[in-house]
Amino acid sequence: MTMTIQDKTAVSFHYTLTNQDGEQIETSRDKEPMTYLHGSHRIIPGLENAMTGRSQGDEFQVTIEPADAYGEKKEANIQRISSKHFRFPKKLKLGQVVSLQTKKGPLQVTIVKVGRFNVDVDANHPLAGQTLTFDVEISAVRDATEEEINHGHAHGPGGGDH
Ligand code: ZN
Repeated sequence: MTMTIQDKTAVSFHYTLTNQDGEQIETSRDKEPMTYLHGSHRIIPGLENAMTGRSQGDEFQVTIEPADAYGEKKEANIQRISSKHFRFPKKLKLGQVVSLQTKKGPLQVTIVKVGRFNVDVDANHPLAGQTLTFDVEISAVRDATEEEINHGHAHGPGGGDH
């Protein structure tokens, strides 16, 4: 009995993510496979689309353009902030990711420039603007439970926790 990936299935998979320069960004190989509810848009669109119709044991590689991954980098997301909003502005390093308190809650930003009075931060997702390649191995496919469908995410190891 082979179950194929379609909406309302819970899918567990291992992945290795590399960027357009062939550098490895992330892998699940050293931990539990990731589990998601197919059709719930919890993973990037390009990857979710590539999963449809696959089944347990399938291995494949997919390359995804920014528009179907984390989007294009937006210039408007790069902002200049007064140094006084940072506790230790002199210790900031280029490329460092820090959490800023905003009216909408904490925001992860990357430090792109440290000036005397101001700091430029980039609030784009760190993978925005990048073409990404995923090497995927499907570990398991099963029917999602009623509860998972109601919640809009998968439960259990590698899935969403509350
Ligand atoms: Zn839940």
